[in-house]
Amino acid sequence: MTQKKFQDGTYSIPTRLIYGKSVAEEWDYSHHVIPPITTSSSFRLDSAGRGAKGFGQIGRQGDGAPIYVYDRMGEPTVDMLQDALAIAEECDIAVTFATGMAAIHAALCFYLEPGSEIISHSTVYGCTYSLMTNWMPKFGFKVHFCDLTDPKSFLKHVNDKTRLIFLESPVNPTLQLLDTQAIISELKKINEKRPADKQIISVFDNTFSTPFCQRPAKHRVDVVVHSLTKGLSGFGTDMGGAVITRREFQERLVLFRKDFGGTLAPQPAWHILVYGLPTLNLRIPRQQENALKIAKFLEDHPLVERVSYPGLDSFPQKEIAHRHLVDYDGNFAPGIIIYFTLAGATPAESKKKGEEMMDYIATNAYAVTLAVSLGQVRTLIEHPGSMTHAAYPAEDQVKLGIDPGGIRLAVGIENPDDIIKDLTAALAHIESVVPVLA
Ligand code: PLP
Repeated sequence: MTQKKFQDGTYSIPTRLIYGKSVAEEWDYSHHVIPPITTSSSFRLDSAGRGAKGFGQIGRQGDGAPIYVYDRMGEPTVDMLQDALAIAEECDIAVTFATGMAAIHAALCFYLEPGSEIISHSTVYGCTYSLMTNWMPKFGFKVHFCDLTDPKSFLKHVNDKTRLIFLESPVNPTLQLLDTQAIISELKKINEKRPADKQIISVFDNTFSTPFCQRPAKHRVDVVVHSLTKGLSGFGTDMGGAVITRREFQERLVLFRKDFGGTLAPQPAWHILVYGLPTLNLRIPRQQENALKIAKFLEDHPLVERVSYPGLDSFPQKEIAHRHLVDYDGNFAPGIIIYFTLAGATPAESKKKGEEMMDYIATNAYAVTLAVSLGQVRTLIEHPGSMTHAAYPAEDQVKLGIDPGGIRLAVGIENPDDIIKDLTAALAHIESVVPVLA
């Protein structure tokens, strides 16, 4: 009964993320209020036959309770998290990985054949870009980059070998949006004319938004990936990744994970299951409220040249934002990240100001921390040009809208006035050192 309620949509998704299945196929959790954490790396087998059956079932939905053999192949706590992640993204299944990058690696490779080609938006998370430029070509996969803010721009790169298109929106760090609906419509038109073995799948990194703010499968995206390290874990204590998609891809993804070995351990899975997902519905609205207040403060500050936050009236892609960034109740959900640039007479000056601000915050701020990552209860600030997006050559960064003085702020749940207090002091400090910089 409880399991049926978990799956059938009688209750809202935030409530189902708190209660889970309660009685899980994976394990008898029926008398635990909170699912117990399991820490057994291998599982006792009653017979060689059970072992053989367990191996035969890897990545497939067996009849009744799954047969667990070895953690890398499947594990109860991880499976419970996967069930909840699939519900959160309104998809069939999820397969978790040790990190977001392990999940992106799997999502990019599980479907390809020798010589396959990929198309990607030109601005993506720095390590995704590094994977696509430093490693994928070594394995024989060609990657074409194009500006997907024009939803037809990818058409010129499509050929017989194309198998995958990669999207990230809002784009990290600029918060530029892609019109996912328009891109997928173009893709569907192409796929209609191609045979089953030449279909092009879409993969979407939804880390920035979390499923609370956006569910790309609703726009017919095939595969959603997440760094669970961010908003889904939420407290900055764990790393993880997930590929969330249709059931038809489950077996290949689980087999990929089994052989490449990027398995999520039960301990981080349990934290995300018990703390991260159940509080998503509380954390994100509070973070969004804070983000809007801070974005308005920054917009009014004379030292700030430009603020990019989808919740601001000045956001240039408002129409796309309102169509795509929507929470479980249908409300506009602009997210928790702000990108802003400091005014400077030259790119070198604005870069120097950005670094100066980071250094000041590192030693003087209390409610803002200089650190990479995002989606935590604490507000984190970073300088993408020299940190998360350093994989892009400096000249390419400017072309892609990654300003030399650009700053990314991942807003937490603190009192927003305290965050503003630290930012005010940091900006005043820059003002005081401007003559020195000039
Ligand atoms: N995707 C995005 C948008 C990210 O910001 C990050 C990390 O910052 C990743 C993927 C990679 O995730 P992880 O650090 O868990 O490997």
